[in-house]
Amino acid sequence: MNGWLRVVGLGPGSDGLITPEAQATIADATDVVGYLPYVARVPDRPGLVKHASDNRVELERAQHALELAAAGRWVVVVSSGDPGVFAMAAAVFEAMEDRPDWQALDVAVLPGISAMFAAAAQIGAPLGHDFCAINLSDNLKPWDVIERRLRLAVEADFAIAFYNPRSVSRPEGFRRTLEVLREACGDDRPVMFARAVTTPEEEIRTVGLQEATPEMADMRTVVIVGSSRTRRVGRHVYTPRHAL
Ligand code: SAH
Repeated sequence: MNGWLRVVGLGPGSDGLITPEAQATIADATDVVGYLPYVARVPDRPGLVKHASDNRVELERAQHALELAAAGRWVVVVSSGDPGVFAMAAAVFEAMEDRPDWQALDVAVLPGISAMFAAAAQIGAPLGHDFCAINLSDNLKPWDVIERRLRLAVEADFAIAFYNPRSVSRPEGFRRTLEVLREACGDDRPVMFARAVTTPEEEIRTVGLQEATPEMADMRTVVIVGSSRTRRVGRHVYTPRHAL
């Protein structure tokens, strides 16, 4: 029997935001591979083997999933949100780079709803015009690169979604991010903290850049900073679709 591998996004938290395609693929799988809290979101059933691993072992996890598919298993690799956004899809392709045997396998990526889109929808339409996403984790890239991208994103007047803003092991990066934004933006603008979006712990808060503090974010928060055009309309925040 031929094995296959699907890299699947589970969305930001609520079951209603898992796509029917992802649900159906998980229902067919023999094996689920992923970071422990995401694997835990997949219900147990007879015949399904769960392979949960710690964070930070993404490449090994991808290799393990490819080995299982090569052995004929039907494998789902799970990520939160969308699997192509700071998640497992890129790790799977990286693992395939020097393995022509794995490149011949039936591998596909199934999209999911990324945290920034779920957060933006709750807030209004802050990503309604041009925007970019920046991962603030400096595990995989030096801080200089992050800071350069940040300054250029402000110069280009993008709204910006920040992932992995702040962890216990990296308390400084987001503090520095706010300093750079205050310096580079030269005006006040809405900063939206969206935590645990679409889960029972959801908290959403919009403050001005001048009031924003590092403690307002943690690892379950996606932070959206508006462009110079982003503004409030009643309870919502949106960015108009025209530049002027
Ligand atoms: N692939 C995921 C992102 C993984 S990186 C996606 O597309 O959403 C992990 C980061 O995503 C977290 O640090 C946080 O910034 C963000 N995140 C994931 N789920 C979230 C949620 N429910 N609410 C707010 N932010 C979330």
